[in-house]
Amino acid sequence: MSGRIPTEEIMNTSFSSTPGTGQPIQIIDITEDHKFKLNENNLQQILSHPKARLKKVSIISVAGAFRKGKSFLLDFFLRYLNRNGREDWLGADDEPLTGFHWKGGSERDTTGILMWSEPFILRRNDTKEEIAVLLMDTQGAFDSQSTVKDCATVFALSLMISSIHVYNITQNLQEDDLQHLHLFTEYGKIALEDSHETPFQRLTFLIRDWSFPYEYSYGYEGGQALLDKRFQINSKQHQELTELRINLKKCFNTLNCYLMPHPGLRVCTSPEFDGKLKDIELDFKNYVKKFVEAQFQPNLTVKQINGREITTLELFEYFRAYCRIFEA
Ligand code: GDP
Repeated sequence: MSGRIPTEEIMNTSFSSTPGTGQPIQIIDITEDHKFKLNENNLQQILSHPKARLKKVSIISVAGAFRKGKSFLLDFFLRYLNRNGREDWLGADDEPLTGFHWKGGSERDTTGILMWSEPFILRRNDTKEEIAVLLMDTQGAFDSQSTVKDCATVFALSLMISSIHVYNITQNLQEDDLQHLHLFTEYGKIALEDSHETPFQRLTFLIRDWSFPYEYSYGYEGGQALLDKRFQINSKQHQELTELRINLKKCFNTLNCYLMPHPGLRVCTSPEFDGKLKDIELDFKNYVKKFVEAQFQPNLTVKQINGREITTLELFEYFRAYCRIFEA
């Protein structure tokens, strides 16, 4: 159901900073001739927002192929953040979902990284310090218009920038998902060659439309069991597959997996569906609520680079530096 805003409409936009009126803004664009472009003006506007300026920062990125429900998920994050995570943040049954999830208008999908124009200010539970929370939508892994290099670049950059990276996958966690992730992390590691720290923070495989809850239950618990199974190493395995697993584990402070139920046929087949909760299966609503809350509780994941928590201003500088490496 969701259409996309044409690239030319979301590049170079001067956007509103009134609370509750944010919009998705293009930060990284991959042009049709496969050039990679950072929109510094847009990024600066978000990061120098008066309420976020100089605060430490937490960045949640949802990444993966088109049309797999990333925007839909991000809209639940927006609801949580706009309603300060209060108990009934999921909202009323007949309220349409809005935000990253938009309708009509465009023909062309945007590839690259979009960021929500409005930072959200949350207090961390341990020190009570205010943290700026940013949401990113990383689009275009392995679609028909992108080259492998385009995908690897945009995905690696998103991994380097985010404190929580949600890798959105449908149905199952397969060998090729691990291979793609390995390629992306290798790209990222080349760019971060000086660092001796674990290069990336938290990666969550989010498996949509999980249909085997009788084997592995929905949520983190079943996800962890599935992940352990997929990451198993045994003597019959080809050395390449063993090394891939060892290398991947070393790349992240936290590597976990969450199994999400199917949202119901109305969500994926009805042209009239506009995100109303009453049209979504109860299981999905319960598990999406738990998933969103788990990204902020028991504590926020503040972005760290080389073991140090960074501010919005520093994030801007790192963003620029990383982009220069990939542009070279
Ligand atoms: P994106 O391109 O990855 O951001 O995908 P969208 O969020 O725009 O969703 C694409 C389509 O998938 C829409 O019709 C959604 O209603 C539908 N959708 C959203 N979440 C799910 C899900 O978990 N499973 C299925 N099967 N469809 C979903």
